[in-house]
Amino acid sequence: MKKRIIVAGAGFSGMWAAISAARLVHLKNAENQIDIFLVSPEPKLTIRPRLYEAELTNMAPSILEVLQAANVKYISGSVIDIDAINKTITVEKPNEKTLVNYDAFVLATGSRVFYPELEGLKEYSFNVNSLTQAQRLEKHLLALASEPDSAARNTVVVAGGGLTGLETATEMPERLKSILGDRSHPQVIIVDNAKKIGLAMGEKACEIINEALVSNGISVRTGVRVVSVDEHGVTLSDGEFIPSKTVIWTAGMRANELTSLIPGPHDPLGRVISDSTLRASDANGIFVTGDTVKVATDDEGNFNVMSCQHAMSLGRVAGHNAAADILNLPLHPYSQPKYVTCLDLGKWGAIFTEGWEHQVIYQGEEAKKIKQEINTLWIYPPEPDREKIFSVANPDYVVVP
Ligand SMILES: Cc1cc2nc3c(=O)[nH]c(=O)nc-3n(C[C@H](O)[C@H](O)[C@H](O)COP(=O)(O)OP(=O)(O)OC[C@H]3O[C@@H](n4cnc5c(N)ncnc54)[C@H](O)[C@@H]3O)c2cc1C
Repeated sequence: MKKRIIVAGAGFSGMWAAISAARLVHLKNAENQIDIFLVSPEPKLTIRPRLYEAELTNMAPSILEVLQAANVKYISGSVIDIDAINKTITVEKPNEKTLVNYDAFVLATGSRVFYPELEGLKEYSFNVNSLTQAQRLEKHLLALASEPDSAARNTVVVAGGGLTGLETATEMPERLKSILGDRSHPQVIIVDNAKKIGLAMGEKACEIINEALVSNGISVRTGVRVVSVDEHGVTLSDGEFIPSKTVIWTAGMRANELTSLIPGPHDPLGRVISDSTLRASDANGIFVTGDTVKVATDDEGNFNVMSCQHAMSLGRVAGHNAAADILNLPLHPYSQPKYVTCLDLGKWGAIFTEGWEHQVIYQGEEAKKIKQEINTLWIYPPEPDREKIFSVANPDYVVVP
């Protein structure tokens, strides 16, 4: 009987894991011994890094043709259980649950937004974590145009001044103007409990980020937390109440809940802690990748962050190793010493940094062009051409040159 590699998740890591596994199986002429399957609710790659944008078109391109070109079979459904001892997963579809055996399993189910227990937060806030949520926010913003002019209508509060919060907030003034009209006075406020917005990116980048916030007309409330949210606005830990119909929560991510079914150590974000092979240490035949894993990126003490930059490389290694494990070949160690960030800062431009110390390389218009290239080209699925796909699916392929 043929052996099975099952990849769960059609995101950046899952798509590349499936292709990379297929590449090795192809290289070793093992197509008659091994089948590769990818399971996900939809055969689409959601371009999550763009969900802060106003224009939500082409945000979930199909990967069916790419999978077909690589000889990966698609299974529609959600994994709801993993039995690491008997090497089975349960796949759920509407009105149907199926038990599927695997010889190697790759967990690539990503991450989700984390809501702490705060009064009204889940009921009254928005987020930009999934396409459905981004569309819900867009519908809400469009509907504000038919509401009477008021401070609450015109004010957007972004809770969390991390990368997602900054990109969401800096896009918002232009977005609100186009909805509420040129004569409107939209107000965008970032709330964060840090002393200064952007400090995590180092002094220099922080200075530039704050210049961009001022230029975009964005206010900040630092050193405070959100305490509660209701239909009229948000209350902060210093007692201030900000009237707002639009509170966007960007302050926290957690690994997909399936990670809790993988035996072995986990980090506080719920990620499975792994060595460079990406094999779950206490589960035979399970590999973890993308936002579900925490692993060293180099020998200098740096670890992957939840990002596509890391997910795309991790996927290639996890898929390769899943196939190598079955074929009794040596596993390839994950390593990704180069780290960059490219942060969109709305009308002002963007900032591009290199290294874990965030050395600023480009800013303003120059960085914005790179951001646009990343967002419209680099992170999209490849052309469905087997040779071309396999030529960039090797586990040591450098995603960010
Ligand atoms: C607004 C926003 C901005 C971002 N900006 C950046 C940025 O500028 N740069 C950057 O590098 N990163 C950015 N990120 C982070 C980046 O999007 C993630 O780190 C990346 O998507 C992780 O890839 P992944 O493959 O691990 O998971 P995902 O891309 O989330 O894919 C997970 C897949 O698993 C599927 N799935 C989920 N549950 C199941 C299940 N039970 N069974 C089967 N399938 C399942 C999902 O449908 C999906 O196909 C941003 C994220 C957001 C939300």
